[in-house]
Amino acid sequence: MPRYEPVIGLEVHAQLRTQSKIFCGCSTRFGADPNENVCAVCSGMPGVLPVLNAKAPEFAAKAGMALGCRINPDSVFARKNYFYPDLPKGYQISQFETPICEHGRLDITVNGQTRRIGITRIHMEDDAGKNIHSAGDNASYVDLNRSGVPLIEIVSDPDMRSAEEAVAYLKALHAIVVYLGICDGNMEEGSFRCDANVSIRPRGQQEFGTRAELKNLNSFRNVQRAIEYEIARQQDVLEDGDAVVQETRLYDAVKNVTVSMRGKEEAHDYRYFPDPDLMPVRIAEADLARWRADLPELPQARRARLMEQHGLSDQDADVLTADKALADFFEAATAACGQPKKVANLMQGALLRELNQRAVTVDAIAMRPEALGELVRIVEAGLISAKIANDIFGELVETGAMPEAFVKERGLVQISDTSAIETAVDEAIAENPAEVEAYKGGKTKLISFFMGQIMRKTKGKANPALVTELLQKKLG
Ligand code: ADP
Ligand code: MG
Ligand code: ZN
Repeated sequence: MPRYEPVIGLEVHAQLRTQSKIFCGCSTRFGADPNENVCAVCSGMPGVLPVLNAKAPEFAAKAGMALGCRINPDSVFARKNYFYPDLPKGYQISQFETPICEHGRLDITVNGQTRRIGITRIHMEDDAGKNIHSAGDNASYVDLNRSGVPLIEIVSDPDMRSAEEAVAYLKALHAIVVYLGICDGNMEEGSFRCDANVSIRPRGQQEFGTRAELKNLNSFRNVQRAIEYEIARQQDVLEDGDAVVQETRLYDAVKNVTVSMRGKEEAHDYRYFPDPDLMPVRIAEADLARWRADLPELPQARRARLMEQHGLSDQDADVLTADKALADFFEAATAACGQPKKVANLMQGALLRELNQRAVTVDAIAMRPEALGELVRIVEAGLISAKIANDIFGELVETGAMPEAFVKERGLVQISDTSAIETAVDEAIAENPAEVEAYKGGKTKLISFFMGQIMRKTKGKANPALVTELLQKKLG
């Protein structure tokens, strides 16, 4: 057992899936031209007044409910003051002393062990703009499209003890906000971002060590690697007899290292104070009840239901429910063919292979779940072999074609006509007298050699069960 124990707490920013920004009517659409979605409010003009988007507290409270938080009936927006070119107001509107949600928890399972991770708080805030540095014309630009986009920040207690636990927590949280429909979860576009606070302490010591805050972690894999690197780095520091310094460090994914960005001395003094332009956010009991009734089935519950209803294994249920779109696809495909286990196998094999190859999620492909269900059905019915199903899978994903029509059009329908197969079997036997001798002499494994010959003659379309039956009959 290593001498040091890591201690990790995560700060996660989830962009809320609202049509308009948090304090103005500008669109939140990703990918617009620079400064297309900007007005006097989100560009920080003097004299303007923010008006709260009612969806923001609803979404934040729903996250709180899913995470077992207390929802504060009154929460307060505060100004977090600092200067940076992407922050035209000169302050971020956030929540400080009284956030909307507090004291929650999230259970995670790592290596069969369930651990409860505390949620310190969830607060609402507006996002900053984006600085773009262009080496080409030696200039810097500011794009304010993101300025004023609604975020929640979900802060965990320092309850995680390994990089695996941190990633498991992050994945569970990601699934929850996507299931809730309050965040699109897109990490590449920055809709779901994470900072990791990491420290280590000698095993058995109660007191926490000094922490570093890691930034720029834009994938689950980078979170894992950055934390592992940081744990090892801090161990080296302590073993050299030095002290870990409190600082913010940036993760460099290319070199797989963390580098110091700013120390504690350079930390901001944000001079928080309640925003005088915004009323406290009051949530009525009736709103809470309505939102609670509105909560969808969450990942844990869906996992349990799929195992119960369709007899899925732990592993199948984990993979299929981690991504809401994948779980939806599974249920629709199963409804189309009534074969959950076959659907689960095909999804974990051929479908995930195709998705990984294209680096896309299941909602981005042309194939509909009904098509996958039909594919399972025509394999079961003996119309095509499992091998052909696998061979054509990529094309079905690409084109969205319905499998039955597709295989008929391509002439891929399996030959189950005994006389046609018999001809091929007879030919194979006549052409390979030596193998026939050997087979009769006891080398029964040669059956697969004959199977190969016949499949070649029939372009893979012979019904394998019929071929085996005929071969055994004729070879004696
Ligand atoms: P700040 O506002 O400066 O980021 P917080 O006290 O809000 O500081 O803590 C932020 C995060 O750091 C939380 O997720 C918390 O769990 C985590 N954290 C606090 N102390 C430690 C520590 N010693 N080691 C690891 N994580 C820590
Ligand atoms: Mg922080
Ligand atoms: Zn605006």
